[in-house]
Amino acid sequence: MSEKVERIKTLIIGSGPAGYTAAIYAARADLKPVVYTGMEPGGQLTTTTEVDNFPGYPEGIDGPTMMMQLQQQAERFGTEVRIGMITAVELSKQVGGIHKATVDNDKTIEAETIIISTGATAKYLNIPSEQRLRGGGVSACAVCDGFFYKGQDVAIVGGGDTAAEEASYLANICNKVTMLIRKDYMRASKAMQHRVNSLPNLEVRFNTQVDEVLGEQVVEGLRMLNNQTNEKEDIAITGLFIAIGHKPNTDIFKGQIDMDETGYIITNGKSTKTNLPGVFACGDSQDKEYRQAVTAAGTGCMAALDAERYLATIEAPKEVV
Ligand code: NDP
Repeated sequence: MSEKVERIKTLIIGSGPAGYTAAIYAARADLKPVVYTGMEPGGQLTTTTEVDNFPGYPEGIDGPTMMMQLQQQAERFGTEVRIGMITAVELSKQVGGIHKATVDNDKTIEAETIIISTGATAKYLNIPSEQRLRGGGVSACAVCDGFFYKGQDVAIVGGGDTAAEEASYLANICNKVTMLIRKDYMRASKAMQHRVNSLPNLEVRFNTQVDEVLGEQVVEGLRMLNNQTNEKEDIAITGLFIAIGHKPNTDIFKGQIDMDETGYIITNGKSTKTNLPGVFACGDSQDKEYRQAVTAAGTGCMAALDAERYLATIEAPKEVV
């Protein structure tokens, strides 16, 4: 066998809470997992400051430290963690088939099972002032960071279900929430719209977008642009939440694995099974609804158990009837 082809039992693609939890369980089940970290080792949590909502950390923990500890825990049981990107896959449709994955356009991994934990990436507006103040008051996760703006004035961008849900969440803890919607209507479900409209400290601005986020080191205000009148208006805020959607990192699986129209991998019922035998998906790559570290970790555990059971069925001697 060439040096550039390696055969393993379980390949885990992605190193967020889903990937590392899958690794902990897979390693303890002796599946000798290999994790490829991807471009952002540790995943989305490494771009967060304090994680206050993961059970077991009464004082909270910073995102990068938590991910380092998860990695160490996975390694303690024999997981091999490698820095690298899976750049292409060739997935088998056969039960017991071998799946192939290319690492950094070079080496090939042949795996009996693959656990996809590639996560998702929050979309940003991509204007310079917003990019500069990411981590300084600009956030894409109200549930993660909203608490730091308790009693303060904040704004949120977006008109979908996520924005509506996060706006209501923020309205419960902040003094005032201004919601910027670029169209003259809200895309969110009627139920969510009613919820938003019932909150006295939440002001919805239609036909309104971000012109500039104000502040040097931290967010101090927002310059809004009315796209109908071209009028600009400044408001004082300390936090700006971007809730304009997420993109699952599943491009390399397109055309091979069943996904919904937005690229989220479809899993079977309550399991992490995809339409392909031996390929499992967990975390944000298959969840557009909850997207929390703890739910990702939970599905990571499920994916490893599903992989272990799958291997047991294909390795068990066939019964002679
Ligand atoms: P959506 O794609 O549904 O909504 C994105 C929102 O952001 C839209 O209002 C869109 O505006 C706006 N937007 C996009 N780009 C920009 C931009 N550059 N500037 C300003 N505004 C922008 O994403 P969601 O994350 O809200 O939802 C994703 C999916 O998950 C949906 O199917 C949703 O129903 C589902 N979901 C369900 C929940 C639940 O049932 N509890 C909770 C959360 C999500 P425009 O309308 O003009 O395009």
